[in-house]
Amino acid sequence: MVLLKIAEPGQSSQLHQSRLAVGIDLGTTNSLVAAFRGGLSEPLSDSDGQVILPSAVRYHSDRIEVGKSAKLAASLDPLNTVLSVKRLMGRSLSDVKQLGSRLPYHFVSSEFHMPLINTVQGPKSPIEVSADILKVLRFRAESISGSALIGAVITVPAYFDDAQRQATKDAAKLAGVNVLRLLNEPTAAAVAYGLDHHAEGVIAIYDLGGGTFDISILRLTGGVFEVLATGGDSALGGDDFDYAIAGWIITSAGLSTDLSPSAQRNLLETACSTKEALTDAISVDVYYCGWSAQLTRAVFDVLIEPMIARSLKACRRVVRDAGVGLKDIAAVVMVGGSTRIPLVRKAVAKDFGRQPLTEIDPDQVVAIGAAIQANTLVGNKREGGELLLLDVIPLSLGLETMGGLMEKIISRNTTIPVVRTQDFTTHQDGQTSIMIHVLQGERELIDDCRSLARFELHGIPSMVAGAAKIRVTFKVDADGLLSVSARELSSGVETRIQVKPSCGLTDSKIAEMLNGSFKYADDDKFTSVLRGQQVDA
Ligand code: ADP
Ligand code: MG
Repeated sequence: MVLLKIAEPGQSSQLHQSRLAVGIDLGTTNSLVAAFRGGLSEPLSDSDGQVILPSAVRYHSDRIEVGKSAKLAASLDPLNTVLSVKRLMGRSLSDVKQLGSRLPYHFVSSEFHMPLINTVQGPKSPIEVSADILKVLRFRAESISGSALIGAVITVPAYFDDAQRQATKDAAKLAGVNVLRLLNEPTAAAVAYGLDHHAEGVIAIYDLGGGTFDISILRLTGGVFEVLATGGDSALGGDDFDYAIAGWIITSAGLSTDLSPSAQRNLLETACSTKEALTDAISVDVYYCGWSAQLTRAVFDVLIEPMIARSLKACRRVVRDAGVGLKDIAAVVMVGGSTRIPLVRKAVAKDFGRQPLTEIDPDQVVAIGAAIQANTLVGNKREGGELLLLDVIPLSLGLETMGGLMEKIISRNTTIPVVRTQDFTTHQDGQTSIMIHVLQGERELIDDCRSLARFELHGIPSMVAGAAKIRVTFKVDADGLLSVSARELSSGVETRIQVKPSCGLTDSKIAEMLNGSFKYADDDKFTSVLRGQQVDA
């Protein structure tokens, strides 16, 4: 395999001394940075000893405040304080409007259809806001180590689409952080537990954070994690438990629900600290504006039980979507601060029929796994002593779709090993087979790309056009070997082949194809618009 480059970013292939690479969990509610030091992956703390950085950014006319103090100021200065910016990443202004009107910001549009938040420092894109969070974490890592950061593995939710991933990368670039790789959050959690050293198996990752619930089912095959299915609820998390306790306080104390923003903030603060205290204590004294009472864990459990039930329902759906049975799941990993709550652990254990893994702090586990991966990617020695190298695929891999167009499944320079899946469907009523045509190249028309293989998937149950769901999986292993499989999800019929992605292509051919893709980029767009019209006609 001449063509698979050993591409350690900016480095020659000599042996390296230990170099600082970190893992960053850029979360909706909280962010943190971890590093692999002295044989251990651990989160880095700020000068006050705090590991968790609330993902809150407040813009002042002359400075930027990030973290806890910014979060606390949210109710005082809502227009200039951005919370949960992750929800806006890679979204257009119209997407954001659909997200709901609960966001207090003044949005302005930009030429890229990106929502910009109007602050005292002028319009800020979600990418800039995220970059401001990343800068703080970068500074933290560099001041602890006393050296410049080589790079970072930044985690993203498994369901993040290309635009959301790209936005995350752009934020890193803006913060001066070299992205070694974007890693799926559930995969990072699995790596933290060392599950990638184990044999094959299916793993469930239950992630209940501040504002979101994600459940992911991964399959591990030969050290490669494949996302079988993801799901969850983007409006379910620890914040809802805070609201539930706040509601209980209002009712018990006979308060009016018409509270000022700062009274509301105070109430939620009280509710949140009560909730967190109830994780360790079975009863907590609650004080609010001269009123006081006891909240027991038993009452708290009753308040949150319906929400936990909702998360478990989503789990059952996703396990079904993944096409696996509960008995196939070899491990359940708990992620997210809210999985500290005893009832959550109990309910998950009962539903999955096994004790979930909780030994690693659930709000640090993602960053810890990302740091392990980062350390490996920059070529520092692992416990085993072997030197792992980072490989990339030299040219994009994809499939032929309607109209003779190339749909990229794995883009060039993606580090390997890698697994990507994409769903396709039939375009004719009663269609029972499809041709899978595997291609490599950067151009949009298949005629300008290199054909690697063709195979057919037969036995698709006869359905109306668009009803079948054909999941195509591209897997490139550490040796650069590509295998492609296609599976019709309702019937489970499956075909797979193995192809060598770069056989026969020389380095100069690759250079030529890359040049071509830039030179002809405009022509290709024009032709694909034309073809698009032909297909529609
Ligand atoms: P995200 O991934 O959304 O950024 P985290 O994983 O950091 O968020 O989870 C934050 C949530 O975890 C908050 O709602 C917080 O109150 C909750 N949490 C943190 N510690 C505890 C605890 N000891 N008991 C209950 N909930 C907790
Ligand atoms: Mg998280």
